[in-house]
Amino acid sequence: MERLASYLCDRWQSGAGDGTPLNSAVDGSVLASASSEGLDLGTALRHARDVGGPALRALTFRQRSAILSALSKAIRDERDGLLDVAAANMGATRGDAKFDVDGASGTLAFYAALGEQLGDRTYLLDGDEVRLARSPRWVGQHVQVPRRGVAVHINAFNFPAWNMAEKVATALLAGMPVLAKPGTATALLSVRIAERWLASGTLPAGAFSLLIGSVGDLLDHLGPQDCVVFTGSGSTGQKVKGHPNVLRNGVPVNVEADSLNACVIGPDLAPGGATFTMAVGEIVRELSQKAGQKCTAIRRIFVPAALEAALLEAIDDRAATMAVGDPLAHETTVGALSTRQQFHDVQQGMAAMEAAGLQRAWSYGGEVPEGGFHVAPRLYRSDAGVDAPFVHDHEVFGPVAAILPYDGSVAAAAALVARGGGSLVSSIFSDDEAFGAALALEIAPWCGRVYWGSEKVSDSATGHGAVLPGTVHGGPGKAGGGEELGGVRGLHFYMQRTALQGDAALLKRALGA
Ligand code: NAP
Repeated sequence: MERLASYLCDRWQSGAGDGTPLNSAVDGSVLASASSEGLDLGTALRHARDVGGPALRALTFRQRSAILSALSKAIRDERDGLLDVAAANMGATRGDAKFDVDGASGTLAFYAALGEQLGDRTYLLDGDEVRLARSPRWVGQHVQVPRRGVAVHINAFNFPAWNMAEKVATALLAGMPVLAKPGTATALLSVRIAERWLASGTLPAGAFSLLIGSVGDLLDHLGPQDCVVFTGSGSTGQKVKGHPNVLRNGVPVNVEADSLNACVIGPDLAPGGATFTMAVGEIVRELSQKAGQKCTAIRRIFVPAALEAALLEAIDDRAATMAVGDPLAHETTVGALSTRQQFHDVQQGMAAMEAAGLQRAWSYGGEVPEGGFHVAPRLYRSDAGVDAPFVHDHEVFGPVAAILPYDGSVAAAAALVARGGGSLVSSIFSDDEAFGAALALEIAPWCGRVYWGSEKVSDSATGHGAVLPGTVHGGPGKAGGGEELGGVRGLHFYMQRTALQGDAALLKRALGA
């Protein structure tokens, strides 16, 4: 059985002990094991800081962009093999695996192109010069310079390719070395990608480290110039934020956590119309893709009471082509949950919804194979609105969502969205401009992204659940309060914004502005 190694101090190193098994999501068999026991993480961070940091900071954005291009190409060149690994280790269908793997190479390519535009600088100018006194010579100019530490990336199990690549893209372009720690259960795909990246020969020494297995004492070794970007459950995110050494050193922590994303059906929609059909397609896709294991998946559906029956009927019609099964089989549209733990958690979550009094509104009616981590998609319902039990407070991280009828008003829809306590994304499906505009701005403070689906974009919109590098990803409150991506905004977390005050002429020359 393969023992997955970590890449620290520019060499592969294996942890001690039996390690944690990585299971096949299809039949539960053990594919590999991982351990970080006994690895010297303090030395690994020092190496990245002292060797990788200076090497990256010496490069211009354009030169860093060339590294990202090579990393993107390394994934594309190995695409088919990586898709197979995703199916075995994660239960991902080919479509799910592409979403992860192509998302990884695409995001790297996006940031490579951005780096080209940023050109031959090594840091960012932030805004224009600001006059600060009567004399026009005394001015301020904000700059953003790369932090002098290591960007520690702690990732969730559900996107072992994209999650690692989107963070690597922004940190390396900003000029910070990375230590990536994938979710252990699905780390096989991250390891295979890291092997391709290292084989590409384009990463400067110390610029990239990979920790496989538990996080160990990593956080104890962080210093004031390091930062942490965390994706995972809210409870683990809180532990990271509240870690004594993180607090002591003021280490910036960006958290992307679980999220009770919403979908609002506008009262203007007619069953069978383009926008209504678009909404139904999104709901079914969000239940199916990655078997619902997406941080952006729709968990709460708010529908005007008069449209509820038509919505359920349309979902049932659309779901006729849904097939739960072997992720490797061509006809499968809903693969397996990624891990045994996930399988238990989702079963427990559905039992808790039923115990709380939610009614089953729709269930997948086909066969569900036994032996792997397969779950039949399901929708629950409640008439209790903002008082509905469970659904506004708990994420069931699988193919499960709840439908709640509302009175069709902006105020009621907004209150329901807000009741989730902060979401990564909420969607509105409406062709009523007044309704859509009022609701979008009303719910914006509760959402990192608002997705407005309407008739004229029904065949071109990119999808409720798709995270695109040009717009920000993250969300307030329960969603963690973090922000990633969003073009050049994605670099800012890795950089210190400093106000330089001085003689306008000296500053201009110093900054080459
Ligand atoms: P998790 O259990 O919180 O684990 C996330 C990461 O944290 C893993 O790498 C895990 O390592 C590590 N970890 C565990 N204990 C830690 C500790 N005490 N200190 C530091 N790191 C620690 O979450 P998950 O089960 O992998 O992911 C599912 C959750 O992630 C869902 O709630 C989902 O909504 C959320 N998610 C959010 C986003 C987003 O962008 N907002 C994206 C994807 C997923 P091990 O694997 O070694 O335990």
